Amino acid sequence: MRLHLRGRGLPDGEEVQWWVHDGVLSAEPISNADTAFDGGWILPGLVDAHCHVGLGPGGPTSVEEAVEQAETERDVGALLLRDAGSPVDTRSFDDRDDLPRIIRAGRHLARPKRYMPGLPIDIEDESQLPVYVAEQARFGDGWVKLVGDWIDRGVGDLAPLWSDEVLVEAIAAAHAEGARVTAHVFGEDALPGLIKAGIDCIEHGTGITEDTIDLMLEHGTALVPTLINIENFPGIADKAAKYPTYAKHMRDLYASCHRRVAAAHEAGVPVFAGTDAGGMVAHGRIGDEITALRRVGMTPTEALGAACWDARAWLRRPALTHGASADLLCFRSDPREVGVANPDLVLLRGRVWG
Ligand SMILES: [Zn+2]
Repeated sequence: MRLHLRGRGLPDGEEVQWWVHDGVLSAEPISNADTAFDGGWILPGLVDAHCHVGLGPGGPTSVEEAVEQAETERDVGALLLRDAGSPVDTRSFDDRDDLPRIIRAGRHLARPKRYMPGLPIDIEDESQLPVYVAEQARFGDGWVKLVGDWIDRGVGDLAPLWSDEVLVEAIAAAHAEGARVTAHVFGEDALPGLIKAGIDCIEHGTGITEDTIDLMLEHGTALVPTLINIENFPGIADKAAKYPTYAKHMRDLYASCHRRVAAAHEAGVPVFAGTDAGGMVAHGRIGDEITALRRVGMTPTEALGAACWDARAWLRRPALTHGASADLLCFRSDPREVGVANPDLVLLRGRVWG
């Protein structure tokens, strides 16, 4: 199938024309191409920079359910997913041309009883963290996921999982394998050690302070705040009545979250869109996260870029370029005004999906 598309690109709004042949984009005209779209906006496929394929409300899913999750993402135009830790091996999905591309972080790495049961690899002896990190770096697609903090039931509050010293070694071990590292962090205390150790990204980051924002700027750390999942904090606090200090901490983090993420964005920390779909959030909600990012001070163009061209550059994946896979969306109306929920055309590997 040979296709021709004409419209305007973003963020610059310039007129663009693309031809598609054998699933690949061409900036050069291709003969006998059908014009599939003319007038409107043409964007690279959306990016959900934090979701979990193979994780559902009840924990690990079957492979069939994981396929359905990936299909749901495809149908809303999320054609590139950064999987921030999954207990299910989805690498066989790479052979399917009907599913979004997935950048995997392998399995979550945690200490025993310091994350949701059944999800992470539990590491008894923290000095072994660098070994496990290197293993997950080789298993994944360029990212490793740590659990940075979680409730410590002995303390009755959020607490860091790892010592600063082992984080330095562990992150260096990932970088030596060519992988980047990110961490789940809700509270304040785990952030300085992770950022100073050279972590590449912070997930959630509800506990960022002025000081940690400065550290993130100094170290080039990105933030994926998963704002639509933070909406679950009050419910988490309600269920934690046995741990009143923790419950209050979660409520306080919820109350200050928008102000803190807005401060990080304003200061220049790179912020990307991730839904955290797969646990308490359903798949297919990237559009809601884009809307939420606008409530922390991102312009409509910035919020869309955080789930599209800017996220692709950060993840080192192509946007719309000659020779790249034709993974794109077309909108008759400006998606910054009408939202991204109803693309008029979804192309994945050059194939029309909707
Ligand atoms: Zn997550």
